[in-house]
Amino acid sequence: MSSIFSKIIAGEIPSYKIYEDDKVLAFLDINPEVKGHTLVVPKVEVDKIYDLSEEDWVALWAAVKKISAHMEEITGRRTLYKVIGTDVPHAHVHLMPYDETWEHGKTLSLTEDEFNAIREKLAM
Ligand code: 5GP
Repeated sequence: MSSIFSKIIAGEIPSYKIYEDDKVLAFLDINPEVKGHTLVVPKVEVDKIYDLSEEDWVALWAAVKKISAHMEEITGRRTLYKVIGTDVPHAHVHLMPYDETWEHGKTLSLTEDEFNAIREKLAM
């Protein structure tokens, strides 16, 4: 069975897309810990990030670098990275414009309009 992220990548489930290339998709986390909380996901479905092939690993971190620089330009904040993968068994990196209100696991409730406004600001 495909992961929820594979379904998003296949377009079967909607997402607030920020970035896409041939190997990676990035979209807003549906339970954001800060505004702009983004998931960067390899299109290939691999559970643990360190089990990615060298090629997919490099493509993932190259996308993380690009998106972080863009996020910092837009938000003026450093980017916090988090890799856990205890919830969705499909490798991914969490990217968050860091601010002092951030607390691991504490989530914000955003409206669809708020998600759309953030997506518009951050989309590349
Ligand atoms: P982790 O596996 O790194 O612990 O967390 C997975 C993350 O994926 C969580 O922050 C969760 O909110 C997010 N997530 C789970 N399902 C969906 C979904 O269907 N859409 C989006 N955009 N994010 C999701």
